[in-house]
Amino acid sequence: MSQDTPPTHAKPDATSELAGCETCLHTGGQWVHLRKCLTCGHVGCCDSSDGRHATRHFHDTGHALMTSAEPGESWRWSYVDETYV
Ligand SMILES: [Zn+2]
Ligand SMILES: [Zn+2]
Repeated sequence: MSQDTPPTHAKPDATSELAGCETCLHTGGQWVHLRKCLTCGHVGCCDSSDGRHATRHFHDTGHALMTSAEPGESWRWSYVDETYV
């Protein structure tokens, strides 16, 4: 009898790309809406959220283009031009 026990470190489906704001997930913060960086795919929260991590990501990295990560929204925003693109 050599029956292996299944691995216990199975984690949730990593292919569901929008679990939430990456920083808020780490800090336990809450977000209102999600924004996704078009340069690197970073997911952050919007300016209505406490963390404003999407904007912070722009300040940290210079990645100026982001899009809404909300279902049914497809607009894109440029932090440099401060306009929809
Ligand atoms: Zn956040
Ligand atoms: Zn980025």
